[in-house]
Amino acid sequence: MKANKTKVFDLTSEQLGAVEERAVDLMEGLVWPDGPVCPHCGNQDRIYQLRGRTARPGLRKCGACRKQFTVRVGTIFEGSHIPLSKWLIAIYMMCSYPKGVSASQLSRTLDISYKSAWALCRKIREAKARSPLRERLRALDGGRAAKRPASARS
Ligand SMILES: [Zn+2]
Repeated sequence: MKANKTKVFDLTSEQLGAVEERAVDLMEGLVWPDGPVCPHCGNQDRIYQLRGRTARPGLRKCGACRKQFTVRVGTIFEGSHIPLSKWLIAIYMMCSYPKGVSASQLSRTLDISYKSAWALCRKIREAKARSPLRERLRALDGGRAAKRPASARS
């Protein structure tokens, strides 16, 4: 059977911009549930949204320390040129595909270079390994294992 070659991001630049805005909104809601916080000085007041042709999506400026930032600062997305929308789809694929996802599959689906896809895979795997959720799941599994009768253990 031939592989499905449809790309998720077969969109116009205008549509891509809208998708990216939604992804930034989603991430901001997760990282800053009570509104934006400056990652440089911790200030929450007088944070300005920078708009314009050259401004990256979600670019902000702190009124206290005057530094610029986006929601990516301090996350696995920091320093990456890959749009957040592509990162979110990569995370979804890596967390939901039962057999996992290869870097070459991500590269084709997201229309990014193999090198970028490989870096995404590595960062997402590291983040999954560090996740507190994983710790909680391990604790649950340990609890169940402890309740098994002694004969079931080796
Ligand atoms: Zn600041």
